[in-house]
Amino acid sequence: MNIYQFTREKLQLKLQELGEKPYRATQIFEWVYKKSARNFFEMTNISKSSQELLNEHFVFPKLHLEKEQISKDGTRKYLFRLHDGNLIETVLMRFHYGNSVCISTQVGCNMGCAFCASGQHKRIRNLDVYEMVLQVYTINEILKKEDSRVSHVVIMGIGEPFDNYNNTIDFIKIINDDKGLGIGARHITLSTSGIVPKIIEFSHLPLQINLAISLHFPNDKLRSKYMPVNRKYNLEKLFDALKYYYEMTNRRITFEYILIDGINDTKECCIELINLLRGMNCYVNLIPMNETNTMFRRSSEKATDEFYDLLMQKGINVTLRRDQGHDIDAACGQLRIKTEMANARKNC
Ligand code: SAH
Ligand code: SF4
Repeated sequence: MNIYQFTREKLQLKLQELGEKPYRATQIFEWVYKKSARNFFEMTNISKSSQELLNEHFVFPKLHLEKEQISKDGTRKYLFRLHDGNLIETVLMRFHYGNSVCISTQVGCNMGCAFCASGQHKRIRNLDVYEMVLQVYTINEILKKEDSRVSHVVIMGIGEPFDNYNNTIDFIKIINDDKGLGIGARHITLSTSGIVPKIIEFSHLPLQINLAISLHFPNDKLRSKYMPVNRKYNLEKLFDALKYYYEMTNRRITFEYILIDGINDTKECCIELINLLRGMNCYVNLIPMNETNTMFRRSSEKATDEFYDLLMQKGINVTLRRDQGHDIDAACGQLRIKTEMANARKNC
């Protein structure tokens, strides 16, 4: 069994099955996540016999770091190779308020959004809990050596977290646990393309984490054209679920909106967006499009400014996301695809 796979609650149950005291789960969590222990023999408050028993049942795997790229603005991108050879990427962004890690939840993504590099590659598999935990853990270990730590986590890398729901929730519990990595719930943001039943399920969780919705288009016609998820869960269904989420949690929702030249950056689109969001406690995060293929272009500065200004004028909370790590392809899925293409070329 893999030690990073367990929430503290699940570890307690497992330890009981093995005839161990459940409180050992807290001790183990502290050793693993706070003191960076990589085996049970370092855990000096655990008896020799327990250490040996635990050692027979659990392993402490690592993610293999295939490549690290550092951008001029300090953003770092890590490409990890998994035990089965698949590659995933994790991005570390440096802000004045802390260090934010953007993690992947799947190898590839089945949602097929037309503008997204990840969506152009079908999902190969879901990530296990430990593979998500180790993305944060490994970067935290790197930062510890620099007298720093991971303070924020965004679940916005490759994959659709609500298409890997149970593993993602266990992952969140582990990083949020104050005996684990202790990342505050308000410092964790999950982004989804809008899988409605999972938004409802998520509304019932006693976790105060932030929810972001990849909206990107203000009407069904455009959204269904470029985001297949909208053909199943259209804007009416999505917004009903979000209203329910808000009733249950009282938490403000973030809408992500990539500005794509000539497609969703017009004044008409902006007005539709304003009407859609009217009366909601939300804010809009405008994102400069990362040009991953030839079909779409990033909006001009003029169109971006006009879109932003109109939202502001109409009283919508809006931010323009800083374009981090642009020189190292730090957008959804790009590094992985480049490396795979390079490897494929090498193998030819
Ligand atoms: N699957 C989830 C989370 C991962 S995608 C989701 O879609 O929300 C993380 C964010 O990156 C999403 O808002 C996504 O729409 C955005 N994104 C995808 N392709 C992009 C591109 N080419 N340029 C900028 N942002 C992009
Ligand atoms: Fe998947 Fe999100 Fe990319 Fe859409 S935007 S293809 S849901 S990773």
